[in-house]
Amino acid sequence: MKYQAPRGTYDILPEDIQKWHYIENIIRKLTSLYNYYEVRVPIFEQLDLFKRSVGEDTDIVEKEMYTFKDKKGRELALRPEGTASIARMVAEHNLQSSKKEPLRLWYEGPMFRYSRPQKGRYRQFYQFGVECIGSSKPIADAEIIAIGWQILQEAKVPDVSLEINSVGCPECREQYNILLKEFLYKDKDKYCADCRRRMEQNPLRVFDCKNNTCRQLIKNAPRMLDSICDKCSEHFEGVKKNLEMMKVPFTVNPEIVRGLDYYTKTAFEYKVNYLGAQDALGGGGRYDGLIEYLGGKQTPAVGLSMGLERIILSLEKSEFLFPEDNNLKVLVIPIGTAALQASIEMMQEFHKADISAIIADESSSVGSNLKLCDKNNVSFAVLIGDNELKSGLYVVKDIKKKAQSEIKKEEVVSFIKNT
Ligand SMILES: [Zn+2]
Ligand SMILES: [Zn+2]
Repeated sequence: MKYQAPRGTYDILPEDIQKWHYIENIIRKLTSLYNYYEVRVPIFEQLDLFKRSVGEDTDIVEKEMYTFKDKKGRELALRPEGTASIARMVAEHNLQSSKKEPLRLWYEGPMFRYSRPQKGRYRQFYQFGVECIGSSKPIADAEIIAIGWQILQEAKVPDVSLEINSVGCPECREQYNILLKEFLYKDKDKYCADCRRRMEQNPLRVFDCKNNTCRQLIKNAPRMLDSICDKCSEHFEGVKKNLEMMKVPFTVNPEIVRGLDYYTKTAFEYKVNYLGAQDALGGGGRYDGLIEYLGGKQTPAVGLSMGLERIILSLEKSEFLFPEDNNLKVLVIPIGTAALQASIEMMQEFHKADISAIIADESSSVGSNLKLCDKNNVSFAVLIGDNELKSGLYVVKDIKKKAQSEIKKEEVVSFIKNT
């Protein structure tokens, strides 16, 4: 019996891991420059957490979650996204209670959604997120948006566009929902069953429908952005102004609603136009009500999340040359079994000096071991045989320069360090 990874999942092979390290290093660097702290939260949570925060009427909760009961009958779900867990953590540990500065957090890890797999969309996928918790000021929105923008710039993802919108606050949304319902009810029977149900409970979610007929119908719907209250409008103007100060280019797109219930005011997406249907690299928004809704103190917050697969796919499309991970630096080649003890000691000396080194197979010929160095981009080979053991002088070959020296065994490490 030969097994395969489950549908919608994949293995990251050793020759591909450098791509992941490349982007992860940039995320670490940028978040650290802005003083964000990494946190790690569970991969599964109570099912109810996602129902309440992401929203019962969303595609994610209705169709895409991996849910299960544990042996005690608790209803759990693999996390479909990260913000719900972050908000739960902040509420649970009362993290925002005494700090004046906003709490700056980031995370990375696998998320799970049962959707139709296609290029750039998987059932287990990796996401990172950045969350600024405790500030209601537009500068916090702009900071989050700028971090995502800078990460994509630094990673050299070509032709990224940033689109922003405001989805209003609970007060102005109530007004808007009345307008939207009126519009939807005009052609009520033409929408799909999901949309007809969502019209009643949560009309904004009709915008997420992927059905072509529904998408055509909703094109002329009134836009949230035209109905936002003065407070929301003032906030949105502030975000735009701050983004201009930060020299982050953006366009306003009133169609950005994000498929999650917890967003308030700012919503945004980073997009590219060369990935087909999967054109969004990520996005986010403000979620001023979520932490309180999950039992915490009233705490305004704003965050972003992005999929690592799509960033990597964008770079592959542009034929970007990913920097290689550190290669093996030294191959220690024992000539005959008598040299094995000395070769092991030599390797250990390299490791003490933080130089990567392994021992070659002593049953292969020196020639084939040296060929291996060439093939694998190894910088040095150290040859140890009977003569070397007797004289205490080891043969050091500089593979790239094709040079060879005899070096006292005590000085081999410093010789290679200084070459
Ligand atoms: Zn409002
Ligand atoms: Zn529909």
